[in-house]
Amino acid sequence: MSYYSPSIEKLIEAFERLPSIGNKTAARLAFYILNASKEETDEFISAIKNAKENLKYCTKCFNISDTDPCEICANPMRDNSVICVVEDVKDVVAMEKTHEFKGLYHVLHGSISPMNGVGPDDIKIKELLSRVMGGEIKEIILATNPRVEGEATAMYISKLIKPLGIKVTRIAHGIPVGGDLEYTDEVTLSKALEGRREL
Ligand SMILES: [Zn+2]
Repeated sequence: MSYYSPSIEKLIEAFERLPSIGNKTAARLAFYILNASKEETDEFISAIKNAKENLKYCTKCFNISDTDPCEICANPMRDNSVICVVEDVKDVVAMEKTHEFKGLYHVLHGSISPMNGVGPDDIKIKELLSRVMGGEIKEIILATNPRVEGEATAMYISKLIKPLGIKVTRIAHGIPVGGDLEYTDEVTLSKALEGRREL
């Protein structure tokens, strides 16, 4: 039995559907909204509506954007001979924050995961292949997550693209900056060793 009125209950339920929001946090957010001014709640609602109505997927790289092609694909300063393949839109943001990468992206929108019923056709691999076939591309950087699914996805893509004579690289992974060898797990340490480079 609920102690809240149906309207509050509905609002709490709506917040609870958001990722990593539990019942207590949902109730706190619902009461915050109830106590907020009309202007504040109107602004919140219109931000959600605006994002839902205006944002679209770039038909080239599948990044989320206000424009199609997205700002990155449309930027003539970017190197269109290198494509960095990532799993998620958030990974593009993470890479952009480094200011190190000047090429283009390709967002897969997931990774191959037979356990969860996700096969190669469920993510944007075909689309990547047709970009590669379109010419101009010299290198594909596989920046999928260093988890089982990410590794499997990287291997799969590499097997498809390498025979086309295009350089395929995988981002190195290893010990985090500020980390300690002593406390690094053996998988991470062996990956770091594998990805070593000459100084
Ligand atoms: Zn794009």
